Amino acid sequence: MAIERRRLRVTGIVQGVGFRPFVYGLAQQHQVSGFVGNDSRGVFIEIEGDRAALDAFTDMLESSPPPLAHVESVSVQRIPAQNTNGFAIIASQHQSDARTFVSPDLCTCDDCLRELHDPADRRYRYPFINCTNCGPRLTIIHGLPYDRPQTTMAVFPMCAACQREYDDPANRRFHAQPNACPDCGPQIEFVAKGQRVAGDALALTVAALQAGQIVAIKGLGGFHLACDATHADAIQQLRQRKGRVDKPFAVMMRDLAMVEAYAECNAQEAALLLRRERPIVLLRRKPNTDLAEAVAPGNGYVGVMLPYTPLHSLLLEDINAPLVMTSGNVSGEPIIKDNDDALQRLAPLADAFLLHNRDIHIRCDDSVVRWVADHELPIRRSRGYAPFPVRLPFEVAPLLAVGGELKSTFCIATEQHAILSQHIGDMENLETLTAFGDLAAHYLRLFQITPQAIACDLHPRYLSTRWAQEFAAAQGIPVVSVQHHHAHIAAVMAEHGLSAEESVLGFCFDGTGFGTDGTIWGGEVLQASYADFERVGYLQPMPLPGGDSAVQRPYRMALAYLWQAGIAWDAVLPPVQACPAEEQRILARQLERNLQTVMTSSMGRLFDVAAALIGIRQQISYEAQAAIELEAYALDTDQGAYPLEWTSQNGALVIQPYAILKALVADIAAHTSPTVMATRFHTSIINLVVQLSEHYRQHLGQNTVALSGGVFQNIHILKPIVAQLHAQGFRVLTHRTVPPNDGGLALGQAVVAAHQLNNLGEDKN
Ligand code: ZN
Ligand code: ZN
Ligand code: FE
Repeated sequence: MAIERRRLRVTGIVQGVGFRPFVYGLAQQHQVSGFVGNDSRGVFIEIEGDRAALDAFTDMLESSPPPLAHVESVSVQRIPAQNTNGFAIIASQHQSDARTFVSPDLCTCDDCLRELHDPADRRYRYPFINCTNCGPRLTIIHGLPYDRPQTTMAVFPMCAACQREYDDPANRRFHAQPNACPDCGPQIEFVAKGQRVAGDALALTVAALQAGQIVAIKGLGGFHLACDATHADAIQQLRQRKGRVDKPFAVMMRDLAMVEAYAECNAQEAALLLRRERPIVLLRRKPNTDLAEAVAPGNGYVGVMLPYTPLHSLLLEDINAPLVMTSGNVSGEPIIKDNDDALQRLAPLADAFLLHNRDIHIRCDDSVVRWVADHELPIRRSRGYAPFPVRLPFEVAPLLAVGGELKSTFCIATEQHAILSQHIGDMENLETLTAFGDLAAHYLRLFQITPQAIACDLHPRYLSTRWAQEFAAAQGIPVVSVQHHHAHIAAVMAEHGLSAEESVLGFCFDGTGFGTDGTIWGGEVLQASYADFERVGYLQPMPLPGGDSAVQRPYRMALAYLWQAGIAWDAVLPPVQACPAEEQRILARQLERNLQTVMTSSMGRLFDVAAALIGIRQQISYEAQAAIELEAYALDTDQGAYPLEWTSQNGALVIQPYAILKALVADIAAHTSPTVMATRFHTSIINLVVQLSEHYRQHLGQNTVALSGGVFQNIHILKPIVAQLHAQGFRVLTHRTVPPNDGGLALGQAVVAAHQLNNLGEDKN
């Protein structure tokens, strides 16, 4: 029998996911000799045996890898046989010229949960139980390859029992880098009034929560501020201390049975909740439960997640009540991850602390998703998802894209991958900017990428734009400024794997983005490819008196829109009632003389104005609050719609909101119910997109419609638009992998910049 030897190289997410033990098992099964190891490019394997065995081994490797692995490629090379015996897992090799992917953090697996609850197991109720199939990854890794010395577990030498598991290729914990037990691993402690409290830290935490206290709990990617979600006073206290007026809090629930008691949850939503990424899923709240209204005031939805660490599981089982679990941060700043920092800066917010001594190397907030018809819609792509790469349909040079300002993320792209960072926060202060810079440096080091260009938003005053300019100057690389809405549309194109030659009709509806004409855009129809776009339609620019400050006061915007539409400020209109007489006087003068007024074609603002006119929301305390509350009013039934109008200017369509505004005002005068008006407004926007798509198909021959921008987080418009466009034979691209809001912007910037650089390169040739 002829003996052969082959060298295999496996790339993708193949480290920290039990890949080497899997290979070891395969080798035993097929009786091949050789070795397997990790290096910074992935996994390398040499196998020797008869040809049939080697073929079977390779087939299995490709067809049934371990559940958490994501194999990108397997290359096979024949090399001379060496007459080896046995199969070995060899030490990791450090190489500086390449990269591999890092697994996201993963929820506790069923095997570990079973042990956690087994009184006979040596890890019974141990809050840090994990194995190769679960546990922390991204958040504890300093560098690659993924090995214990390169993680924050390096400071916990394994006990003999743990070491045996770690060394045994047949064991579920073979080379599980965060492997630990109560004898050798991290521990929890309870701290109140600056003092460590003796006793069972978990029992003390449960008692504090049951007494209505707020406890800062260290988790996987940072601290949560927790309190009993049925305890209205505790939540009110938390809102007061955090300075968070209305913004919804996420709630952690023990299990699906508890979720079903509080929220509508269909089978797909249940599956989303149970995914190993364990995102927060936005679910419609059930009426008349004991969940405090203050959890998500004025919001028809509540963000729910299931426990994702062993500590969470124990906590939720012991307290057996839903817990508010909101990011432990000082308002507007990044989530806190270190004990010392928490003890200092969360002291004014928390009554007590549940700490542990496994350090979090990089922070990672919880992810948020919604279920739409037949797929998930990311709202915040973070823990569990980052840094899973988006596969690109083309090769790109190494690039860094820095995103926008709100919901900041960055993207590093190289070869055929785009790696989008976790959510960092709104880039409005130094703390967030610092966190952004640190994380970008960490990613570039971890993935060993030296960017050849940097992409940013066109907005000259975004902190991210300035950061990009400084970075580019220091590195001597070019900056590519990408128009905001073009980036949004390019992001959804890239997700769907469109090629460089393809173009789409893109509806980009959001709050704010800097236009190429220096005005604020946000209700845009773009004919776009990656390299270029044409603004073929837009919402009639409307005055925003006082610019960004008006955004906090929808009543003020409503008055400005009425003024522009030539509709009188009748005292029966809710926004007129909400605007003090003196402010009305000043506002009128501002509008007449065009003082400190910026013009915007924003669709987000039109939703704000509708919410104000209908009487739903006059002032906001968090981004998009008015639009979110407006969506909660909309019904699924047919209530009619407002008339649509558009005009033509320089070859572009200008969508006129006047007819909608007039019809809305007439409805108010006729005492139409807010739910009917909200529904009609939503239907009008749905009709607008569907009718315009048809119009452009006739004029531009464009059959592919892409939907992006924060407005498309609204599933009340997204679902019917997609359904109707499909019914009319359109190909429709919506977000499934990255958010439609500015959290997905960096992906679009990266692909646009890649193509613009390519084109420049070609021009030179
Ligand atoms: Zn496990
Ligand atoms: Zn141990
Ligand atoms: Fe945007």
